[in-house]
Amino acid sequence: MIIVLRPEATKKDIGHIIEKVKKLGLKVMVSQGVERTIIGIIGEEDIVRVQPLEAYPGVEKVMSILKPYKLAAREFKGRASVIDADGIKIGGKKIVVMAGPCSVEDQDGLMSIGKAVKKSGALVLRGGAFKPRSSPYAFQGLGEEGLKYLMEVKKKTGLKIVTEVMDTREVELVERYADILQVGARNMQNFNLLKEVGLCKKPVLLKRGISATVKEFLMSAEYILSNGNFNCILCERGIRTFEDATRFTLDLNAVPLIKKLSHLPVIVDPSHGTGKWDLVSAMSRAAIAAGADGLIVEVHCSPEDAFSDGAQSLLPKKFDVMMKELGPVAKAVGREL
Ligand code: PEP
Ligand code: MN
Repeated sequence: MIIVLRPEATKKDIGHIIEKVKKLGLKVMVSQGVERTIIGIIGEEDIVRVQPLEAYPGVEKVMSILKPYKLAAREFKGRASVIDADGIKIGGKKIVVMAGPCSVEDQDGLMSIGKAVKKSGALVLRGGAFKPRSSPYAFQGLGEEGLKYLMEVKKKTGLKIVTEVMDTREVELVERYADILQVGARNMQNFNLLKEVGLCKKPVLLKRGISATVKEFLMSAEYILSNGNFNCILCERGIRTFEDATRFTLDLNAVPLIKKLSHLPVIVDPSHGTGKWDLVSAMSRAAIAAGADGLIVEVHCSPEDAFSDGAQSLLPKKFDVMMKELGPVAKAVGREL
């Protein structure tokens, strides 16, 4: 249930409504816009449905949302959310490109990649220090040492940091270094982790699970929002289908669909979505054309030696060409790079 207030509603009106709703044993979430305030009611809708909410001072209309996600629903904000990650805005006119290696491997290699992607126009450095690997024998990441390397590159280049957190016990540590906390595809339904990052102040990049429907994806976002963190960025990174010619099937339908269903920004990961470096540029252009707010792309100076995901990593010079090609596409859809 959503209560849309009149532009002239006073603080007293808002307080009065909140008090009444809380007395019914329901939770409220307030979205304070420039022009008007919207109050979301979370809990059993039937309890409020019988209340004459429209009669309360300051109320313009009351809308019932039948979607299982309420705070993530487009109606809750009535407009797109723009998320601030240490000064960078995600979800606005500018397309935000995040780039870097799959795994943080060593300081010098990361610094070279960081400097290169920054020069090409990336705003955020990606790199996993905690890696979710299918095999327990594969490289698991450098842990805190890797986070320190990311921080060094940030200091040198000004790039912001997005890095994965896999475990509730590591959220505090990762939040100390990261500007954006990444929740990976394999953890999209790790509800304890979602609750924990929901308590963080920093933005969360939530990746779609490999077999998750759009509804399940938005319900996972709802976990983060309902714990108080509205700074959630969604990432389409490909789903598993019958097609095995590519690593995953990049579901670009999800981009305009989620933009319609939710106010949250949506970015696309064409690296994991295809698994092939030579498909990354084309799918990046397609993602921007479909309305994505940004991209997260794997780049490595020597893909053949990468500890993980070398086959889908772009060389810096190929990334540079791709960035140049994205400009006109962004412009064609009213965005800028
Ligand atoms: C990654 O970004 O390196 C990663 C492991 O992604 P995903 O969770 O989408 O597989
Ligand atoms: Mn990877």
